[in-house]
Amino acid sequence: MTEANNNLISEQANNRVCAADLGGTHLRVALVDSAGHIHFRMKQSTPQQKSPDGIMRSLVSAVKECELHGDQINGGKHISAVSVVVPGTVNVDRGIVVKAPNLSSLDGFHLSEQLTAQLGYRSVLENDANAAAVGEMWMGAGRGRSAIVCVTLGTGVGGGIILNGKLWRGVDGAAAEIGHMCVDPFGGVACGCGSRGCLEVYASATAIVRMTREASPRHPDSTLDIDKLTSEAIFCAGKHNDELALEVFKRMGVYLGIGIANLINILNPEMIVIGGGVANGWELFDKSMRQQVAERAFPLLAARVQIVRAECGDDAGLLGAARLGFEKQ
Ligand SMILES: [Zn+2]
Repeated sequence: MTEANNNLISEQANNRVCAADLGGTHLRVALVDSAGHIHFRMKQSTPQQKSPDGIMRSLVSAVKECELHGDQINGGKHISAVSVVVPGTVNVDRGIVVKAPNLSSLDGFHLSEQLTAQLGYRSVLENDANAAAVGEMWMGAGRGRSAIVCVTLGTGVGGGIILNGKLWRGVDGAAAEIGHMCVDPFGGVACGCGSRGCLEVYASATAIVRMTREASPRHPDSTLDIDKLTSEAIFCAGKHNDELALEVFKRMGVYLGIGIANLINILNPEMIVIGGGVANGWELFDKSMRQQVAERAFPLLAARVQIVRAECGDDAGLLGAARLGFEKQ
């Protein structure tokens, strides 16, 4: 066999990453190739235990499922790495989960080392919001860009910053906590991080529900059922011109716009990509968000930046995980 043939086979043999998005509620795993195509995916509940054993068992069995679904290539040896993203602070170099508030059994756990020991694959670990930014740059709204900020508006508010085409992780791997940028210093709402007035307490799904409940006495004609509020229900009511929902999303847009103006002035990015479930309310907060950006960001920078919706949806983290798995070979 020639050397060229050998190289070809080794490329085919290791051309997929098994990517896992380990959330507080669900574990989603996908087999992704180097072009960003997803070949197989699965989703299950995240084991809720005091020790990491249950999560490890789920991850290992999910990777084995992925092996089976690619077994037509070189006898199953098609996976080059297992890449896991978690909602928390991670030590990327050592593959350790430092602190994950919704997966506290993993705090201090050497996840990459354990996965490699049990499966034999190289293992990569990253924060979920950072991975989502990489996913959007690779396969989503940020394709072809090298300076983007990704803001994920979910249960909380996450962020990822890419500069010169690379993630900015900070000295401890905890950079881009955009949700904890202060946007209201005077009597702001208390945040889970211990501070007050963080963007997260005005722009997350949790915040949308809270602000709706708080504002409801002023809107007795609202169609919303205050006992069964979800950010999705509030967004739907807003689309039908419910005044309470409109007021809440407008207010949320003001705070989000202040945060984005700060990011623009500090980083001068090409693009701000906004994703997460709350981004479904885009048409309800877009105007007030852009108004704040126009008032607060440097005109030159504000004129240049594009503020757009994310395109990868729930797959942003998985795709970013896969990309990072390919990068660190
Ligand atoms: Zn905070």
